[in-house]
Amino acid sequence: VHYALRREKLAHELSRRKLDALLVTHLPNIRYLCGFTGSAAALLISPEGASLFTDGRYTQQARAEAAGTRVVIQRASPLIAAADAARRHKLRRVGFEASHLTVAGRASLRRALGPKSLLRETTGMVETQRQVKDASEMTVIRQAVNLGASLLETALQVIRPGVAEAAVAAELEYAARLAGAEGMSFETIVAAGPRSALPHGRASAALIPTRGFVILDFGVILHGYCSDMTRTVHVGKASGAEREFYDAVRAAQQAAIAAVRAGVSCGRVDAAARNVLGHAGLARFFTHSTGHGVGLEIHEAPRLGRAQQEKLQTGMVVTIEPGVYVPAQSRPPWGGGRRVVGGVRIEDMVVVTEGGCDVLTPAPKDLLEL
Ligand code: ZN
Ligand code: ZN
Repeated sequence: VHYALRREKLAHELSRRKLDALLVTHLPNIRYLCGFTGSAAALLISPEGASLFTDGRYTQQARAEAAGTRVVIQRASPLIAAADAARRHKLRRVGFEASHLTVAGRASLRRALGPKSLLRETTGMVETQRQVKDASEMTVIRQAVNLGASLLETALQVIRPGVAEAAVAAELEYAARLAGAEGMSFETIVAAGPRSALPHGRASAALIPTRGFVILDFGVILHGYCSDMTRTVHVGKASGAEREFYDAVRAAQQAAIAAVRAGVSCGRVDAAARNVLGHAGLARFFTHSTGHGVGLEIHEAPRLGRAQQEKLQTGMVVTIEPGVYVPAQSRPPWGGGRRVVGGVRIEDMVVVTEGGCDVLTPAPKDLLEL
């Protein structure tokens, strides 16, 4: 992994912004820039080099993981230790990560830097760089996605009427650990029957009903990288209306995937999915954005939402996940007796290429009736 190269790029950006140093406090950013995976650290980056500040619990780990970085073990908080070092080295214009520092943290940073330094807010300096994945990241992401997708089979074997959603999640997560996952990348979603109308229905004690949709949205962490996928299955035989409902989401997902290409705006991809659902009369039930970046964090830049101007670049890894959710009390989407209650979401991870994208998630998308 080319940590030094990543830091070099960042140092270049620092001089462009007329900063002497950047104080990195967001742990995924620290991991990205030097490899350190501990839970308490600050990383001070300047054109002269990088120093990692952490505490005595991480002496060995920091030296092993953050090779190429000066490691400083201190009893003080990593933030204060880093500020002290900036002051001693006369780094005058110090940037900090405004999205990742508390108000109290900023105040103590201000005090520790002393009166001669200027503290400058920055946002997204490392996150922007992290959007485009390098070859070593792609190798690991593919492994994470494949491990994640292999768990679908486990879940499908457990799902049947009368089983708690939480039991399905438990089996899936147990299998994930046994298969080598470091953990789940977010709380597993198993939302069955009427609960499938909740876009984020975390697995609950609710039992799987005798018929209806079940949304499974889950992901694993492998070597620090997240996977994220969603499949919706149907318990019992799906009605014609339910099948139509599912097919509309699948067509929307396909349209969005077809729209992905380097140079296309994120908003265009979102619009591709939204248009298909609009033609099916379902646009008002698609209540979230079409996708998001994935990497060291489960939700990263870019966001594939409505009117999002940012352009996709080769090497970005994003999800494509349109969904529709019809709560029991809402007006049926197609009127008359063809009422569908519940939700459907289909989610894959893709990597953006020059001429389109590669779909990373290997699982099939035909509607499964269990
Ligand atoms: Zn998901
Ligand atoms: Zn997602």
